[in-house]
Amino acid sequence: MKVVLSGDHAAHFPAGELYLGELVRPFECPERWDHIVAALDAVGMDDRLAPDPVDLGRVGAVHDGAYVEFLRTFWAEWTAAGHTNDAIPTMFPVRGLRHDRVPDDIDGRLGYYALAAETSITAGTWQAAAAAAAIAQTAQRLLSDGEETAFALCRPPGHHASADQFGGYCFLNNAAIAAQGCLVDGADRVAVLDVDFHHGNGTQSIFWERSDVLFASLHGHPADAFPYFSGWGDETGSGAGEGCTLNLPMRPGTGFDEWGAALDLACDRISAFGPDALVVSLGVDTFEADPISFFRLATDDYPSVGRRIGRLGLPTLYVMEGGYAVAEIGTNTVNVLRGHLDG
Ligand SMILES: [Zn+2]
Repeated sequence: MKVVLSGDHAAHFPAGELYLGELVRPFECPERWDHIVAALDAVGMDDRLAPDPVDLGRVGAVHDGAYVEFLRTFWAEWTAAGHTNDAIPTMFPVRGLRHDRVPDDIDGRLGYYALAAETSITAGTWQAAAAAAAIAQTAQRLLSDGEETAFALCRPPGHHASADQFGGYCFLNNAAIAAQGCLVDGADRVAVLDVDFHHGNGTQSIFWERSDVLFASLHGHPADAFPYFSGWGDETGSGAGEGCTLNLPMRPGTGFDEWGAALDLACDRISAFGPDALVVSLGVDTFEADPISFFRLATDDYPSVGRRIGRLGLPTLYVMEGGYAVAEIGTNTVNVLRGHLDG
């Protein structure tokens, strides 16, 4: 399995994350990447390549152009306004407020384009986010050119980013960019399977009305877990996309028996959809020791996750999402990939 990766991820590491009323060291930290690379090294998965430069035209196929430009130019505008600290959004166009006016003020625009306040923007955020999108694009092209599998080692993650909002540690939706790229490069239908602990609200919203992309997600129930306002089982898509979204939310303490049964259900739906390619939003924050999540998967469960996905027999691109038990993230991630290859 080819692995696409870039050291540019390290440019994104804000000083703090707003978490339960405190500014803490971000859970989404650069060491996550280091541990994944070390685990790949340990099993000899060393077929690696750097990404081609990001294709912003293709990014624009799933993201709003003004939003991408906001991300690209934010730090220059923020510092020009006299700020030297990282930026944290604090005011949002929520219920009762207008969504149809984009503020001129940079702090106002920060809130307009944000869905939550835990995700800070720092000097290197755009560099890292653009590199992550480039990684997804390069890995997708490998798949479209005939590779059976590929691993896009993206950081920051992407599945919470919608067409025009960042948050949940995500800025550009790497998995959605890859799925759309598969379609542009010849696939008629693509499935996105999101096994990250959190609901992939961004991916869901991007493909909500689309009949050529199936979005299936296993996640912590929104009654109990971030992103709280998305991911209920009755969200199934709309318009042409009605029935092309599958949400399988699960409650605190869910172990591998129940989670694995949900995975089987999602895989059955994917088979029935008949896609030409599969993009997996691979988060391992389903792990029992994850500090911000509440499922109970064990390290030894992850090979079975990869085996079950591999049994679909589809060209498969794994795109890295979450996982915050840093010491175990590498082993858990590689266990999924190895399970796929060994299955
Ligand atoms: Zn997550």
